[in-house]
Amino acid sequence: MKEIVSETWGKRPLIISGPCSAETEDQVIETATRLAKTGKVDMLRAGIWKPRTKPGLFEGIGTKGLPWMQQARKITGLPVTVEVATAKQVEDALHFDVDVLWIGARTTVNPFSVQEIADALKGVDVPVLIKNPINPDLELWSGAVERIQRAGVQHVGLIHRGFSSYGNTEYRNAPMWHLAIEMKRRNPGLMMINDPSHICGRRDILQAVAQQAINLDFDGLIIESHIDPDNAWSDAKQQITPEVLGEMLENIIWRKENVESEDFYTALEKMRQQINHLDDELMQILGQRMKIADKIGEYKKNNSVTILQTNRWNEILERATKKAGVLGLSAEFITKYLDAVHMESINHQNKVMNA
Ligand code: PEP
Ligand code: MN
Repeated sequence: MKEIVSETWGKRPLIISGPCSAETEDQVIETATRLAKTGKVDMLRAGIWKPRTKPGLFEGIGTKGLPWMQQARKITGLPVTVEVATAKQVEDALHFDVDVLWIGARTTVNPFSVQEIADALKGVDVPVLIKNPINPDLELWSGAVERIQRAGVQHVGLIHRGFSSYGNTEYRNAPMWHLAIEMKRRNPGLMMINDPSHICGRRDILQAVAQQAINLDFDGLIIESHIDPDNAWSDAKQQITPEVLGEMLENIIWRKENVESEDFYTALEKMRQQINHLDDELMQILGQRMKIADKIGEYKKNNSVTILQTNRWNEILERATKKAGVLGLSAEFITKYLDAVHMESINHQNKVMNA
């Protein structure tokens, strides 16, 4: 790995920014200069080849934009990263000395493409960031990581950019945080960066999503920035100026600041113990609940009654959602929880009935 990257790769939080697409030399240089001026950006990004949903949209400036990135690095001292989707693009990016490569969401879905990139990277010591596939499939994401690692790439990082879902209006790509958390759990050695831009697809909720990622202990952020966002050639709705980005980063509460302090750890440990204790109690209570379910099962069996009695289920739901509100629990959570408990109850009763 080049020195310029090794200084940056381990930095936390790692902040990557730059335009969705490189459009002109001036635009790349001015964006980079203004981003560097915020003092809060560690790496420059720009799309050179753009995978667009519909033909006829701007498909990227192509190889001609790579020297602009070199120039931007020369002026700002920041390492640069671009998206690659084919062996030829890898070759061109490396030829123009790009410091870090990233694999886009539309490429991660395709094992042929990922393998082609992996083959082109054999014996090359360049860090690679791998975005989640557009569909919520952790195996596909892990498969891409494996392919790249098997090619001998030592430094792999992950980017969580949300998942495509039909009819979603709030987000451009639903974050499905639990999937990113599970991916982090499975790959403790890999950094996980969040991409609020492609999750949100709009500016007004960028800050909240970025904050959420930091609260969840992500290692950094990749956020698109453009000198004239409304007139960007791609992803105009989600880009922000370098100055707005600077403000946004300033306003994020970086949760990790106090972890050095012993008091913090002691207090945290105490609260975690309380949670463990409550979880144990909850499980014991659930165990008791199932024992009663078994008894009911036996009673129903002896009296030849069906297991599921819809009225009773409605009554349970109604009672619980009323209570949930008072206790500060969302109706959605309590319904999901009860559904799971109910299923387990039915399974228990089934066993009794069939015994
Ligand atoms: C991008 O980063 O501009 C991009 C194309 O993102 P994604 O692969 O997440 O859609
Ligand atoms: Mn984009």
